Amino acid sequence: MRGRSAPLPAQPVPEAPDPDVVIRLDSVGRVFDSVPPVHALREVDLTVRRGEHLSVVGPSGSGKSTLLNVLGLLDRPTSGAYWLDGVLTGGLGDLERTALRGSRIGFVFQSFHLLPYRTVDENVMLAEVYRAKGSEGGRRTRRDRAREALDRVGLGHRFGFLPARLSGGERQRVAIARALLGEPALLLCDEPTGNLDSENTESVLGLFDTLQAQGMTLLVITHDDAVSTRASRRVRIRDGRLSQEDG
Ligand code: ADP
Ligand code: MG
Repeated sequence: MRGRSAPLPAQPVPEAPDPDVVIRLDSVGRVFDSVPPVHALREVDLTVRRGEHLSVVGPSGSGKSTLLNVLGLLDRPTSGAYWLDGVLTGGLGDLERTALRGSRIGFVFQSFHLLPYRTVDENVMLAEVYRAKGSEGGRRTRRDRAREALDRVGLGHRFGFLPARLSGGERQRVAIARALLGEPALLLCDEPTGNLDSENTESVLGLFDTLQAQGMTLLVITHDDAVSTRASRRVRIRDGRLSQEDG
């Protein structure tokens, strides 16, 4: 409690990380030193709060993939600062970045990248083969957690199926279950409905709504207005510059 007569602090106190902020970019730039150099991101400021569903829209070549790669710790900015879940990423080495990525981020791509001769549950479990995190998760086995992840995306009844027997929307939901296995704070999605018709797109968007209602943070890159209008907030990117959308 602050007494009425408490004096205001004479100088700014160093900012503590806000637990509600998952992504913070402060004047982030990415220059590719090709000849001539390409400024793929320019002074990008962005804050994404926990539980937000943000869409990023922009034409081809505007910097969307570069932004996703920076956010996913697959690439480093050439200027500015990036905090992921309160961690300032600039000073981290490759191993620390890999560990942070594995514990905080799930990736979803346009292509589902499912192995055709593995069942859906095996595909989900394979997430951990590529993750530094190993076998965290207490007493539950990997298979138990794969089942939970499939239940969470509404595909518990597809356990043991091969991907070929599923619709496109179901396959993308398997890929989302795989991304959820490590209990990430954030899903980074690059054109997640780019290979889907409108009905299957709807099933993925419905799942995004459910995940958001459960507290997941989503950042979705898309060309599709039907997809971006379902986000809780939209930003545009053009020539590497981000702008907030009104309304
Ligand atoms: P988008 O995903 O929106 O289509 P990108 O992020 O892939 O756009 O690319 C943004 C700009 O950066 C483009 O002009 C592209 O040609 C350029 N670019 C992307 N990657 C590289 C690279 N490795 N070297 C040089 N230029 C690149
Ligand atoms: Mg791209």
